[in-house]
Amino acid sequence: MSPETTQLPENQHDWVQDFAEGSKEQRNLLGGKGANVAEMTRILGADRVPAGFTITTSACVAYMNGEQEFPDGMQQDVDAALARLEAQAGRRLGDPENPLLVSVRSGARASMPGMMDTVLNLGLGDEAVLGLAKRSGNERFAWDSYRRFVQMYANVVRGVPSERIEAEISALKKRRGITLDTELEPTDLQELVATFKAIYREQTGEEFPQDPHEQLSGAIRAVFDSWLGDRARHYRRINRIPDEWGTAVNVQQMVFGNMGQQSGSGVVFTRDEVTGEPDPSGDFLIDAQGEDVVSGVRNTQDISELADIMPAAHAELMEILRTLEKHYGDMQDTEFTIEEGRLYMLQTRDAKRPAQAAVRFAVDAVEEGLLTKEQAIAKLDAASLEALLHPTFDRNADYTVLATGVNASPGAAKGAVVFTAEDAVHAAERGEHVILVRPFTEADDVAGFHAAQGILTSEGGKASHAALVARGMGKPCVCGVSALQVDLAGHVARIGDAVIHAGDLIAINGTTGEITIDDVPLVEPSQDPHMAGVLQRFETVLGWCDDVRVLGVRTNADTPGDAAKARELGAHGIGLCRTEHMFMDIERQPKMRRMIMAEDEVERRAALDELLPLQQQDFEGIYEAMAGLPVTIRLLDPPLHEFLPKKEEIGDELHQAYADKRYRTVGVLADVLERIELLSESNPMLGTRGVRLGILYPEIFEMQARAIFAAAAAVRERTGSMPELEVMIPLVDYERELELMRELMIRVAGEYDLVHGQDYLVGTMIELPRACFLADHIAHQADFFSFGTNDLTQTGLGFSRDDIEGKILARYIDRKILDRSPFETIDAPGVGQMLRMGAWLGRTTKPDLKLGVCGEHGGDPDSIAFFHESGIDYVSCSPYRVPIARVAAAQAQLASPR
Ligand code: PEP
Ligand code: MG
Repeated sequence: MSPETTQLPENQHDWVQDFAEGSKEQRNLLGGKGANVAEMTRILGADRVPAGFTITTSACVAYMNGEQEFPDGMQQDVDAALARLEAQAGRRLGDPENPLLVSVRSGARASMPGMMDTVLNLGLGDEAVLGLAKRSGNERFAWDSYRRFVQMYANVVRGVPSERIEAEISALKKRRGITLDTELEPTDLQELVATFKAIYREQTGEEFPQDPHEQLSGAIRAVFDSWLGDRARHYRRINRIPDEWGTAVNVQQMVFGNMGQQSGSGVVFTRDEVTGEPDPSGDFLIDAQGEDVVSGVRNTQDISELADIMPAAHAELMEILRTLEKHYGDMQDTEFTIEEGRLYMLQTRDAKRPAQAAVRFAVDAVEEGLLTKEQAIAKLDAASLEALLHPTFDRNADYTVLATGVNASPGAAKGAVVFTAEDAVHAAERGEHVILVRPFTEADDVAGFHAAQGILTSEGGKASHAALVARGMGKPCVCGVSALQVDLAGHVARIGDAVIHAGDLIAINGTTGEITIDDVPLVEPSQDPHMAGVLQRFETVLGWCDDVRVLGVRTNADTPGDAAKARELGAHGIGLCRTEHMFMDIERQPKMRRMIMAEDEVERRAALDELLPLQQQDFEGIYEAMAGLPVTIRLLDPPLHEFLPKKEEIGDELHQAYADKRYRTVGVLADVLERIELLSESNPMLGTRGVRLGILYPEIFEMQARAIFAAAAAVRERTGSMPELEVMIPLVDYERELELMRELMIRVAGEYDLVHGQDYLVGTMIELPRACFLADHIAHQADFFSFGTNDLTQTGLGFSRDDIEGKILARYIDRKILDRSPFETIDAPGVGQMLRMGAWLGRTTKPDLKLGVCGEHGGDPDSIAFFHESGIDYVSCSPYRVPIARVAAAQAQLASPR
């Protein structure tokens, strides 16, 4: 039985554990830091790692559940552990002759860098400081430690503002005419201690505690409380760390980096933390404690310089880094202290790293024999890898973030602000770079997406129209920027006091959600010479993933350009071509509108005849871009009114035309208005869309079928090979709907001598609950299923995919109803269960029924794992997500082979 699952006897508890007893497997109980310190003690030896003990996460959980009181028995356990530590160290906490000093640090299960509190040098008081000075023979060191302790304790435990304290240090240095903390004399430090204690008294109404046991309880309590603080809560929400986990507290004997020129502290990674290059990288400071290195108050030195200053300690450190990396099989991020020439390791953890470093490490680690390919794949953070494909803000540039929104589609872009799709199109024709800024976007803004460099909206979230379309096109997008007010009528936007006019420069970073009006330089990975090696290694890793995975990866692509891009990124076919986007093209809109405005079928057919050759051209381009791979074309899905102008716009134009006495225009506009009203529906997403359009206006689907099959016949004629064609019907509820559409397809295909089952397939999207429950019936009419998890989520949960993020999600996460958007990661127990039922029922009718997923979830690693386990054959996602899906699919196979 692993230590993690050991059950304690009834009357025992696991509040405290010595470092010497733990191991890295006990992460849940000891927190990451405690478990790793214990592990280091085991592998490096007790003389390399200062001794101490961990107050466990169980104690923190009990504290949180017990109205912020230490649980019964915890104080006694802490006292006993402290007594053991004192015996081992040969010193006592608070001893006026020879005091033991400890550090008190937080350490949760998941690493939360900088989120919670630390107190160093605990145990000092007015008497103990004298003992420390005597024992060390270093008065400056003793007073420096004391002033640090008072400073940290006041801030961390009692919330005294750190600026208040820092201001005193600056003022004193100014009075003395010095710039460095290390130039402070012992008398200066004594003066600071007195000042800090006075501030403490003034701020808390109490004297600074001299009893070290009181100090220790206060510090432990502060660490527990910091778990509940806003900063940590916010971090947990973003990183989806459960509030219930709690944090552990590590109490460790202090070793001192601030004992003079033969002492120091540093932070070092086993490899470069940005690029992943194999040499260790990091910083250190002589005569300093770890906090100084991290806080940036002093300019640090590069770790390589330690080799000159303290060659022996440097050599030992390098050796230890190799040992740790080998032991953990991962890049490590460590903290060390050198006390009078003697090296101590204080902490190690798996290094958080950007995509670039992750890929470099994976390839190098396999080459070095440190990891197998499978282990290297499993260590990747699939979602973060998308960053390798998009331009970003130049890391070294200086810019001010004006606001932050939802990071809806990664990559950075900048350009002049435009407020309408039309302006975007015109600007693009003039060769200008623009960012389309809207409150939200709709189908008829899509032409503007093509034209713009990026999209910024004040409303909506990751499942909004803007996000979905932008991701599909690989365009950066920031959505739901609540600080942004877009005044379309006034052609102006505001963020706080900043007023942004049309034509002003704006830059957005869809990877981070940041917006700036500074002209921040962008770097394109493929053009960045520094990235050439990275992209090559990424290809290597993706090749390994393809060897492992069983889940297929296709792409959602609507244009030959997207199809070609996705193919380059490794897509094995198109899983969803949304044909509606082809009608959004500015040139085609009038033709589409004529079709919608038609009074009768004859007129509608005439308009459709004009659209047909254009649509045929689209398909030919797509088939050729995907030659040899399957192409799934979906018939028209959105409600027709999306192709017409807004009612308000027409209303305004109508008034103007009337005022100008342009009566012919008045007549035309009045007709349009009437048609808009006729087509308008209270719930358009539940209205005349998808297959329902095909039932009500079969001539529309017929035109599309003709374009699809004519294009296939033409390509076959031209290239000698038939595209691998799959026609897909959206939003099917009833078997009969599909039957009718399938008959229509077979009839039209016959006109081109194409044979069903041989030259093409007809399948359906499964995106309504009823279709899942009756999938065995629907399967009679379908050659394949593709789960539209966007609509299945929308209709299964009854949440609007366009509104949930702006309006409901934050509160739902806050109240712990959800931990993320169900439009981002599949709601496995609910929507996922429907999908599984649909898959299973479908295969009861046709055991070999091909099953795909083409909703946004097809590019989400967690959802991909679920689809893999559900027996899905392939996922289809936007082009830039294809590599992520390849990695996630491989990871899913490794975690759960099928
Ligand atoms: C879906 O509903 O999941 C889907 C892929 O179709 P769309 O997003 O176009 O509605
Ligand atoms: Mg859908």
